[in-house]
Order: sequence, then C-alpha cells, then structure tokens
Amino acid sequence: MISRDTKSDLQSKNRTNSANWATENHLNNPLFLDIQDSIDEAARLIQADPNVVARLKRPKRCIAVSVPVRMDDYSVKVFSGYRVQYNSTLGPFKGGIRYHQDVELGEVVALSALMTFKNSVLGLPLGGGKGGITVDPSKLSRTEKQNLTRRYTSELGDFIGPTKDIPAPDVGTDPQTMAWMMDTYSQEHGSFQPGVVTGKPVEIGGSLGRAGATGLGVIYVAERAFEKKGKTLKGSKLVIQGFGNVGSHAALYGFERGAKIIAVSDVQGGIFNGDGINIPELLQYFKDRKTILDFPKSQKVSNEELLMLDCDALMPCALENQITSKNVEQIKAKMIVEGANGPVDNEATKILHKRGVFIVPDIIANGGGVVVSYFEWVQDIMSFFWDEDEINKRLHGIIIKAFDRSYALSQEKNVDLRAAAMGVSVQRLQGAMLLRGLYPR
Ligand code: NAD
Repeated sequence: MISRDTKSDLQSKNRTNSANWATENHLNNPLFLDIQDSIDEAARLIQADPNVVARLKRPKRCIAVSVPVRMDDYSVKVFSGYRVQYNSTLGPFKGGIRYHQDVELGEVVALSALMTFKNSVLGLPLGGGKGGITVDPSKLSRTEKQNLTRRYTSELGDFIGPTKDIPAPDVGTDPQTMAWMMDTYSQEHGSFQPGVVTGKPVEIGGSLGRAGATGLGVIYVAERAFEKKGKTLKGSKLVIQGFGNVGSHAALYGFERGAKIIAVSDVQGGIFNGDGINIPELLQYFKDRKTILDFPKSQKVSNEELLMLDCDALMPCALENQITSKNVEQIKAKMIVEGANGPVDNEATKILHKRGVFIVPDIIANGGGVVVSYFEWVQDIMSFFWDEDEINKRLHGIIIKAFDRSYALSQEKNVDLRAAAMGVSVQRLQGAMLLRGLYPR
C-alpha cells in the first residue's frame, strides 16, 4: 500500500491501458487513485468481470467551462467550472456542486466516482456526477455569487436536466444556490423545472428533511455501528470535524439522542469540553457570531489536535485527506464515521482496521443527503410531497440496508467495511452494465 503523496509520483507506472494516461493529470488525483485501488480490491472480492472493472475506472464525460462574472466593481472575472458525469448505468448522473478555492478537475473526477459507488451501494436508481467552481465563495458578495451560479448553470446548458444530470449542494453551496440554478434552467427552458436540482428550499419544490439529511444519516449509521460493537450511541463521546451542513446536523442529532459531543471544529479551529458541548446553544452562538470559537465553557483545540482526541467515534465532516499516513499513528478514536467524502485515505484505513478501529466509509455514512435528494426528485416529478416522518423513516430503511449488506460481506470475507461496501456497489453496477452491454460498439 502506498500513500496518496507518493502515489502522485508513481502515477504513470502501472495503470495504463491508455497510451496518454500519464498526461491526463485529472485522472491522477490522489483520492481518485485510492478509489481505483478500492475498485480493484472490490473486484477481487466479488470476482468481477475485468471489462466492467476497466469501464468503472474511467469517467464517462468531463465538462470544463469558463464562467465570466460581472463583479460588483463592474470588472469581469473569469472562473473555472467543471461538471464530471462519471457513470449513468443505473440512472441520471447525480451529485453535488462545490465552490472552493482548491477545486480542480481531478478532485471533481474523484468525487464523481464516489457518487457513482455511493448511489449504487444505496440501491438508488441514479448514476454518479459531481461539479465545482474554483472560487472562495466567502470572498464574493451575494450578487456575485448569484451571477456566478447563473452563468455556470447556463454554460452547462443541456448537459444537465431532470432526466440527465441532477446537481445538489456540496461544500460552499446551499439551498439558495440551488434555487438560482433551478430558476436559470427553468427560464432558459421556458417551463418550471424543479427536478433539475435537489437541495432546493421547500417553497420551490425542495423536500422536508433534506437540509439535515446527511447529518441524520451519519447518526443513523453510527447508531447501527455502535450496536454491532455491543455499545450505544447514547452516552458515547463524539468528536466532529466541520460545522457546516453535515457536521452541525450530525452534532445536533447526536446530541438529541444522548451522545456527548466533546469537540467540534470548523476552518477557523475547534472547541473542546470533556463533559459535552450543548449543541443547540452552540448553534445559536454560531448564528449570532459566525464563529464557534470562544464558546463559553470550552477550551480551544486546533483541527490537528481535534483529530487525535480520545473518543468513541470521530466524525470527520469537512474535507478529504484528513487522516493519512502522516497522522494515523496518533488517532485514538475507537470508531470513525466518514461524514465527509474521502477524509481517511486507503493506507490509513488499512492501518486503522488492523488496529481494530471500525470505519464506516463515506459511501454509506454520508449517503443520507443523496437518499433524500432522490426523494426530492421523485416528489418533484410527481408534484406530490411527503411529510418529514415518512422521509426520515424511508431514509433510515435505505441507509441501514446498505450498511447491513456491506457489514455482512465484510464479515463473510473478513475485510474492512470500505472494501465490502465497494464490493456490494461494484456487484450492482456490474449486473446492470452486463445487461445493458456496450453501445455503440
Ligand atoms: P459546508 O460548506 O456546509 O461545511 C464545511 C465545513 O467544514 C465548514 O464548517 C468549514 O468551516 C469546515 N472546514 C473547511 N475546511 C476545513 C479544514 N481545513 N479543517 C476543518 N474544517 C474545515 O459543507 P458540507 O455540505 O457540510 O460538506 C462537508 C463534507 O461532506 C464534504 O466532504 C462534502 O463533500 C460531504 N458531503 C456533503 C453532503 C451534503 O448534503 N451537504 C452530502 C454528502 C457528503
């Protein structure tokens, strides 16, 4: 097993069935290389067809667009935008849109692959995609963010649509961003098209329960994972990195179910209280001051220290590559539930698994968002909306089924849960790909 850092140096060595592979830098993203290793491992586990495996290792289509934006000072700035449509065997492409200064095509490819395997393991009738713009959204005014979003949507044109590719929020985007996307697409197509994006506000075709769905899913699978280990979420000590959509909801739902949230953090740093942080009070504090720092009865911790705290479950809910060969030896958590996409790399996963640390992988753990996005899409198509209890009940059923199937395979084959979840996912994709065949040949 090689680390993600050294992987980029070895990129052209052993993964070529394409002469120009080494020059296709976007295929050499470290997270994507890890995902390819995971595909190989899953293929060995289920003895997959090599032709299917070769197809699963490449994105179907990568779209790169220039996004010129009229700024508040009347200048025009040009941003880089991407949408990667990885695989549509099981249904329309589906995946979030990220606004972050580090967005690059390779990262979007990796995240679109994760969406493909996530939607498959969850049993959804959806393919995988992901999009993003290289921009720090905190530096934009509301008008600039709206201009950026509308122009990006317009540039994507007919590549997206309710039966083709359905974006959703991710890091740096929110329900308002989705409202602008939906409005732009609808205006350009001359009719109301709520099914083109999910994660919209409820007033314009959004679903009840979508805002908190990813965090709730994290807590549902954590409850199941504790159960498998003969423990309970109630009374357990949780550490949560990231206090955005996923992290703040996971913290709240965990708190409501009696877990002790002993530390949380965001990009500015973290706070710690060994007796547990009062999360509803922290949410109000954050709403008023736009920071979690200096919250009463808490001590400061850095993001690095937070990851190393002793706890029953660590929930990384920020960005990828947080636990790698560089810090894996210092991790004291007994369980890790991946709220973010790709926070623990493959090398660290294997080391932690050997040490008995149970990792619930991203493609199951943060699947709650896309499950309720799927419900939103269905409700938009039917123009018939469900109540929140119904949504949460169905979410629980789907995410626990994916966990249980993967857990059973991990026990049967004696592998970690990431490998097993990928095995279940590749198996379903393989079934559909073989039935559909290759066209044009
Ligand atoms: P968000 O923008 O709402 O929140 C991100 C949080 O991470 C913020 O609190 C931010 O301050 C913090 N953060 C950023 N950089 C950090 C750093 N270096 N160290 C510590 N904290 C940092 O984003 P989100 O929607 O909550 O997404 C978080 C993760 O979950 C991403 O990996 C995303 O792909 C994944 N995810 C999100 C959803 C969803 O429905 N929003 C669904 C599935 C997966």
